Amino acid sequence: RTVYVNGAYLPEDQATVSIFDRGFVMADAVYEVVSVLDGKLIDFDGHQARLTRSLDALEIGNPLSDAEYLAMFRELVSRNEITDGMIYLQVTRGNPGDRDFAYPDPDTPQTVVAFTQAKPGLADSPAARTGWKVITVPDERWGRRDIKTTQLLYPSMAKMAAKAQGADDAWLVEDGKITEGTSNNAYIVKGNRIITRELSHDILHGITRAAVLRLARESQMQVEERGFSVEEAQQADEAFVTSASAFVMPVVEIDGAAIGDGAVGTVAARLREIYLDEMRRTAI
Ligand code: PLP
Repeated sequence: RTVYVNGAYLPEDQATVSIFDRGFVMADAVYEVVSVLDGKLIDFDGHQARLTRSLDALEIGNPLSDAEYLAMFRELVSRNEITDGMIYLQVTRGNPGDRDFAYPDPDTPQTVVAFTQAKPGLADSPAARTGWKVITVPDERWGRRDIKTTQLLYPSMAKMAAKAQGADDAWLVEDGKITEGTSNNAYIVKGNRIITRELSHDILHGITRAAVLRLARESQMQVEERGFSVEEAQQADEAFVTSASAFVMPVVEIDGAAIGDGAVGTVAARLREIYLDEMRRTAI
């Protein structure tokens, strides 16, 4: 596999980053995951806009222009012959030389790495036909979840707790309400209404969330942006999650309780179809 490191395209076993890099010692880094379908990038502009927002929030400089990221992503897709899969991009505050809590001089060059992962048949995942089972765990992450940092240990722990219970993912709960999934935004459906937590520092502002809510409104569905409890979710007609790599993924069980009749809901299935159609149409 060919990967990208600071301007160079290299075989993955020749790509290196310093052990003093702030990304390595401090998780002082942000990332994006962009899906690739039929060799094209899904919602590139949305992910690029959020990358800029994450970097700005942390006062990390952005060494590349949007056009340069686009060219680099396309180069990686082409060199690695990716039809369906994803691009992972990470930008760190760079290598200050010594470990220090204070940020280094802003002139310190940022570290930019990117790689592809092939996922044949990404959009026809069998899981989308059966749906996910989720468990709930307390949300014990930091307070700026709107910044897409690489501090992913707690979500990893939650994913492992889900796996240990035979579930597919965990929903995180704070003050009695679901915030989001380990790596996705969470929704419930009641009749013609789609309910998902409002945007704040408490959740990641999902790029897929923005697109799905726009498409739902355009399809005359009602959207209610508010928190919901585990009990309300268990009694909903349907549930689902969204993310750049899972698209719209139905959820059929929460903490062992079946949602609706326990099968994939019609609203979730329809939104998945509408989303994928629109994203394939606008992929670049
Ligand atoms: N919430 C969290 C915590 C995430 O990590 C992610 C994606 O990685 C999402 C939501 C979904 O965001 P997006 O739709 O931009 O992939």
